[in-house]
Amino acid sequence: MPNTLVQRVTAGMADDARPWSRRAACAGKTQLFYPSAGERPEARAAREVQASLVCAVCPVRTPCRQWAREHREYGFWGGESEDDRAAAGYRVRFPSTTRSPKRAGPHRAA
Ligand code: SF4
Repeated sequence: MPNTLVQRVTAGMADDARPWSRRAACAGKTQLFYPSAGERPEARAAREVQASLVCAVCPVRTPCRQWAREHREYGFWGGESEDDRAAAGYRVRFPSTTRSPKRAGPHRAA
């Protein structure tokens, strides 16, 4: 019987054949993972802390992080902000003032 939050989230996931993006802990929480227009730095920091707590218990954090790096995604993915990815060498290709999800990702409603 799983006891910790991580154990409860990951229980049975090893046998789950769904794509990683369909096993996301963030499904339906898009607003935590992308900034709203005109978001201030303090609000961004607070939002990203909330997002990181979701990512911390997500069973697909590793493939999610790799996907975001490889595709130079916007927003918060795999426990990393855009700044984190840029520091790791994966800066977004086309900086934009329109920071919204451009395609379906794990954060969308299930
Ligand atoms: S952003 Fe990635 S690691 Fe974070 S909860 Fe969503 S799928 Fe999981």
